[in-house]
Amino acid sequence: MLNYNVLPDYKTRNEIIKKICVKYKFVKHYFAGKSVCGRPVDVLHIGRTTDKVLYCAGFHGSEYLTVLTVLKFFEECAEAMRSGTIVGRYKMSDFLKKKGLTIIPCVNPDGVEIALHGSDAALTYKPLVDKVSDNTDKWKANARGVDINHNFNAGWKELKQREINLNITSPSPTRFGGTHPESEPETRALTNLCRKVPFERAFAFHSQGREIYCSFGKNTPELSYRLAAVFSQASGYRITTPEDIATGGGFKDWFIEYFKKPAFTIEIGLGENPLPLSDFEKEYIIIQNMLCLGVIV
Ligand SMILES: [Zn+2]
Repeated sequence: MLNYNVLPDYKTRNEIIKKICVKYKFVKHYFAGKSVCGRPVDVLHIGRTTDKVLYCAGFHGSEYLTVLTVLKFFEECAEAMRSGTIVGRYKMSDFLKKKGLTIIPCVNPDGVEIALHGSDAALTYKPLVDKVSDNTDKWKANARGVDINHNFNAGWKELKQREINLNITSPSPTRFGGTHPESEPETRALTNLCRKVPFERAFAFHSQGREIYCSFGKNTPELSYRLAAVFSQASGYRITTPEDIATGGGFKDWFIEYFKKPAFTIEIGLGENPLPLSDFEKEYIIIQNMLCLGVIV
């Protein structure tokens, strides 16, 4: 296995992805789009090309342990396919004959870069970042101050009203949803991919709280609740149902509303973002079986 005890900035991520692709020739690597600063949004796939599940991470800059989570799980699954190794409790090679696993390790590559390396990483948007943030360690938005997980077209207007009530009306390190849904290239990269590729279900990884969110409004399928119970049992994570007013604009919300299929937000880890790198291995082990079951069940 590769070393995941590293901060997953753009350069490190590229090295990990390259090594995975060289080692496992059956991995498909392509791009969903580009960020505001032109950084590509990578997509990796293994297993069947039908019955695919989608794991996405790195929506929020300071939540980069999620990036390591999906990359490590993906490599474990690739190794399982090559040599039959067990992942958690499961022989994933058997299941990946029937199912496919697609990951987007970093939906918001500029945001992660800003959280790890400061405003210089925002390139031409550096003045904007400097203006609205004096602590880029906690940066969550993309390079022009739009929160990708407030930018999806599901309950967006209601969310916008709540932003206004909180006095968030312009680019910000967090929670500014943009001028209209899908205004950001990172958001469109994800929605365009999902419109093109028929994923059975989707997972959005965030931090923190050790929680599972599985519902959004009337389109939430019954299956969502059953699957959430399975994931909760496997990880000890709590299923959280927010007040209707506290949701909207997120990828999970959009996926449920648009496709009427299950989607989940998994809040990994416990503490304050950015969670320390030293938390990664222990938090990963807590959710490893849940990650397997997301593909299997
Ligand atoms: Zn988040």
